[in-house]
Amino acid sequence: MPTETTLEYDAVVVGGGPAGATVATLVSLQGHRVLLLEKERFPRYQIGESLLPSTVHGVCRLLGVTEELERAGFTIKRGGTFRWGSNPEPWTFAFAISPKFAGEGATAYQVERMKFDQILLDNARAKGVEVREECSVLDVVEEDGRVAGVRFTDQDGVRHTVRSRHVVDASGHKSRIHGKVGGKRHYSEYFRNIALFGYFLGGKRMPPPNQGNILAAAFDSGWFWYIPLTDELTSVGAVLRHEELERAQGDREQALLSLIDDCPLIAEYLAGARLVDSGPYGEIRVRKDYSYSKESFWRPGMVLVGDAACFIDPVFSSGVHLATYSALMAARSINTALRDPAAEQAAFEEYEARYRHEYALFHDFLVAFYDMHQDEESYFWKAKRVTHHTATEIEAFVELVGGGASNETALIDAGSYIERRDFRELTEIVESPVLALGEDRNLLQASLARSVVKAGARIQVQAALGENVDEVLPMREGGLVPSLDGMHWTAPAS
Ligand SMILES: Cc1cc2nc3c(=O)[nH]c(=O)nc-3n(C[C@H](O)[C@H](O)[C@H](O)COP(=O)(O)OP(=O)(O)OC[C@H]3O[C@@H](n4cnc5c(N)ncnc54)[C@H](O)[C@@H]3O)c2cc1C
Repeated sequence: MPTETTLEYDAVVVGGGPAGATVATLVSLQGHRVLLLEKERFPRYQIGESLLPSTVHGVCRLLGVTEELERAGFTIKRGGTFRWGSNPEPWTFAFAISPKFAGEGATAYQVERMKFDQILLDNARAKGVEVREECSVLDVVEEDGRVAGVRFTDQDGVRHTVRSRHVVDASGHKSRIHGKVGGKRHYSEYFRNIALFGYFLGGKRMPPPNQGNILAAAFDSGWFWYIPLTDELTSVGAVLRHEELERAQGDREQALLSLIDDCPLIAEYLAGARLVDSGPYGEIRVRKDYSYSKESFWRPGMVLVGDAACFIDPVFSSGVHLATYSALMAARSINTALRDPAAEQAAFEEYEARYRHEYALFHDFLVAFYDMHQDEESYFWKAKRVTHHTATEIEAFVELVGGGASNETALIDAGSYIERRDFRELTEIVESPVLALGEDRNLLQASLARSVVKAGARIQVQAALGENVDEVLPMREGGLVPSLDGMHWTAPAS
């Protein structure tokens, strides 16, 4: 007979993908007790390998994994190359075109998700999150109109009940508990594509400096992604229009090879390459019904982040960006509500408004991008219109597809939040009564005080010069803005 145990936490996160690992880490870093339950044992396979600068230099920096990512040796992505629309020739954009991604922020990575997700999950553990793998969440606990915990089984089949002030559903498109937040999952009438994908060894690379770019090539039945994961390994996927569904049916290998034959650019890049046929990359996979959005993203005690809430389409690699950005914003809401329960409603309304806004930017742009009768200039113009950007069309386009259109400091200037966080921590240490003990008190206090003064002066100078200053206006009337360290929501200065 399975036994039942009851445990208590500030937040329980369901799912250890990028969304779950991010929200768990950013809540734990505020000193809260966080449990993360993941159904699989990592590393586990996942699709979604092409990242954006906003994830790599924004959220990942806040999480403190920059060096680990560098050490992992992922392929550096400088932008994208598209054979798309009315232009018969491939065209390329570089993230560096946007001043928001200038300098080291002008790149992202192509990642093997088994490795990337493992880095984020290990980091969550290192930052104080209690991570339990092979634990499958079955249901939520409800009490007095609020979600108050979850029920799960562990690797031995033992059932547990966990009580928690907040439950985060980060369990992705396969979530079995998203229905506990009111409203339906609405599947897009427009994006009804189907994806068929596999892995090749020995595919061609674009000439430098674009050898790490994602290549997207449209053809009669849809389009292909071609993502260089390592020097040898390439992720190749066909995204087919709904009417072409039957081309993905039957023998998957035959189907993929026949689609490649229909797309001359991809056929050329894969001439001489070999389909991987063993290990986690040896399977040809299919995904459909992946474009949806939930009617509500939260209810008291429970919030949906990442794919559990919504996903659009793979074409501009927005999935992990939306997952990690929504996770950051959900962490702010949870941190705010844990500090002041009366602020809960406003904090989660802010979360939902901002996540929907970011989703809508990509959605509305992508609807126009799928019109193959236009050329790239017209796509850039559309990006400017969707984002109400005042810069050039191409800059507006690159900001949007780099994940920087929201003007959120965390995504384009994470360093300023980190500096303020360090400043606050140093101040707390200097003022700590623990320092009153011990013989080296004066020496230590003096050295810390010098660091605090130095960091504080820098922050004040930046503020005076107007650099690195937060978005001071709320996104909507009556809305909140990020706190100075980026980890809570707060009322805007009047
Ligand atoms: C065809 C296709 C191509 C894509 N390409 C890209 C791309 O190039 N770039 C990009 O950024 N995005 C891409 N995406 C999107 C990307 O895959 C997702 O947006 C991203 O993985 C979402 O992260 P997540 O953390 O929300 O969910 P996931 O990564 O799905 O993580 C959810 C986790 O929850 C766990 N889980 C599920 N149920 C339970 C349970 N009951 N209990 C406990 N744990 C549970 C799962 O095991 C999993 O580890 C693509 C998507 C598709 C469909």
